[in-house]
Amino acid sequence: MGIYRKVLIEPFIKIKEQYKKYKTTARMCENNHAHYHSEKFCKECGKEVKEVEVEKEQLIWPDELIGSENFWHQTSNEFMYLFSNCYDIGFSKPDENEMKILSNDEIKSCIEVFKEKHKIDIELLEKKLKIKIEVEFGVMYHAS
Ligand SMILES: [Zn+2]
Repeated sequence: MGIYRKVLIEPFIKIKEQYKKYKTTARMCENNHAHYHSEKFCKECGKEVKEVEVEKEQLIWPDELIGSENFWHQTSNEFMYLFSNCYDIGFSKPDENEMKILSNDEIKSCIEVFKEKHKIDIELLEKKLKIKIEVEFGVMYHAS
């Protein structure tokens, strides 16, 4: 963690994290003490350990929501940020080590380029999540 760092300055979509429920089995006693080995009786309460069906939640990744890998994501504080995997920035890149001032028009143009590129993805997200998707522009200090 935290070895690779970069600053992202680009458009993105912010949505609430989406979860799906799924069923799986777990080994538990009747007092809900979990067991990960093959012991027959609970060390804590002495009750029999049985295989039971439990319901768990799993985060839904964007590729499952839109059926493609057009976005990569980052999660933070119950929100998921979607970044483009196939986006042409809407302004000319600065040279190495050169600072570029972004005008409001350039920021608007970035957002428009993103919206155009991901028109279908945005429609799919809106349909699936039943919300209006807004494209925002911002900075993320990304560590992975
Ligand atoms: Zn127990």
